[in-house]
Amino acid sequence: MKDPKKCPKCRASFVGEKIPADIADQYSGTHFMRCIGIDGGRLGVYDGIVAWMCPECHHEFPRNKHKWGMKMFEKYQALKGGK
Ligand SMILES: [Zn+2]
Repeated sequence: MKDPKKCPKCRASFVGEKIPADIADQYSGTHFMRCIGIDGGRLGVYDGIVAWMCPECHHEFPRNKHKWGMKMFEKYQALKGGK
């Protein structure tokens, strides 16, 4: 999965601190990512990340631009709104 590098709305960078060398092998990247992954399992949408949330403006956006990613995001938004 490719992590977003910045917020599509406020353009805040999601690239955080550099990951210390001693724990870096547990991560796929070189820097901590500040975006918040929203898990769809809780809403019964999908067992995994269905959307990202910006830590600055709380804007939520799909994990990817593929059809299935957009669909999942729509489902998540609908279920979230119906609570
Ligand atoms: Zn933002």
